[in-house]
Amino acid sequence: MLIGQEITVLGGGIGGLAVSLALARHGAQVTVLEQAPAITEVGAGIQISPNGWVVLKALGVAEAVAEQAPRSRAVRLRDFRRGAEVFSMALNDPAKPWHFVHRADLVDVLAAAAQGAGVTLRLGTRITAVTPEGEGARITLEDGREEAHGLTISADGLHSPARKVLNPRTRPFFTGQVAWRATIPQDGSLAPEAHVFMGPGRHLVRYPLRQGKLVNIVAVEERDGWVAEGWHHTDHPANLRRAFSDFCPEVKNLLARAEEVNLWGLFRHPVAVNWYQGGLALLGDAAHPTLPFLAQGANMALEDAWTLARCLSEEDLPEAALARYQALRRDRTARIVEAATDNATNYHLRPGPLRFAAHSALRLAARAAPQAVTNRYAWIHTHDVTA
Ligand SMILES: Cc1cc2nc3c(=O)[nH]c(=O)nc-3n(C[C@H](O)[C@H](O)[C@H](O)COP(=O)(O)OP(=O)(O)OC[C@H]3O[C@@H](n4cnc5c(N)ncnc54)[C@H](O)[C@@H]3O)c2cc1C
Repeated sequence: MLIGQEITVLGGGIGGLAVSLALARHGAQVTVLEQAPAITEVGAGIQISPNGWVVLKALGVAEAVAEQAPRSRAVRLRDFRRGAEVFSMALNDPAKPWHFVHRADLVDVLAAAAQGAGVTLRLGTRITAVTPEGEGARITLEDGREEAHGLTISADGLHSPARKVLNPRTRPFFTGQVAWRATIPQDGSLAPEAHVFMGPGRHLVRYPLRQGKLVNIVAVEERDGWVAEGWHHTDHPANLRRAFSDFCPEVKNLLARAEEVNLWGLFRHPVAVNWYQGGLALLGDAAHPTLPFLAQGANMALEDAWTLARCLSEEDLPEAALARYQALRRDRTARIVEAATDNATNYHLRPGPLRFAAHSALRLAARAAPQAVTNRYAWIHTHDVTA
């Protein structure tokens, strides 16, 4: 039913580009409205787990992404003070690849493939309001002009105007955690592994990008004071170094080389209750912003993209397609968001009996039944929306 159908996608991020490509492959005529003057991404890394990778494969872009981001081998949880390993999870199942990807490389590949498939990008087009109207949506642009569009997919992230219209009563709240991110030049010597250094009230994740020429860090600290939400707020690197000054030399040496850092507040957002109304639907962070503690935000957006395109291509009526899409996605994403929230406390236990017991249990489990620990999140990572 999608051949020649005009569909508008708001937002040209990972979710918006992926759904545009998937829809174009089904024959739809897709236009993306993106606020930025060029398709770019922040200079940061992203972990694509097997459940996201299957979508990139099905979209035909996995090989191009893998050229810049070869497979990762393991995730290691380490104690903050001495750097001792507490637990490691091997990522060596050939059928379930993980990749550490530079976000800019991923959007470049998706944008090129989408344009190659006939998707039109309207850049520098910021939306200030969206309302469902008939079988589509009425959109207000930044300059005040209004436009009527047919079926519209809102993939415009955390601050999506459509999300607020469809879910007027949901309010985010500050979690009491802030995160710094930075990329630091590296000499290519780091193994393709993610290392998580776990300290009291803080943790730091580092993994290599672009064949080890860069290392990506995300460092999280619990704090009382409120910090603005969003990716683009800069901070002085000295503040990051100070917050992690009691971590092991490996971490301190890494942070000593950080020159540009961003800091933002981590907020909890309830998963949207209403994912569509009429011909307006939500996708990705617009529907289910998540805390970064399971690295699933973009992976869920990729799953959404494939599922929505499939529902629209298989159902005769858009309303039935959107209802099926919501039914397939809402509970799963809510469960993942919940699990990500719980994971923060797992990393941040204070020194004392509880931390000792938790780390001892993890070490024991790692020796006795490593698979059992790995399997804890198998329901996330082995899920294949393309099957
Ligand atoms: C520190 C951190 C680390 C993360 N690590 C991972 C990870 O390892 N793995 C993972 O899967 N996820 C990770 N995520 C989450 C992931 O980045 C997001 O979930 C993902 O980018 C969501 O994609 P999206 O396309 O829905 O939204 P976005 O990436 O936010 O894209 C939205 C797009 O819409 C555009 N836009 C916004 N508003 C408007 C408007 N009004 N008009 C027009 N255009 C607009 C934006 O410019 C942007 O291009 C991480 C997040 C953070 C904060």
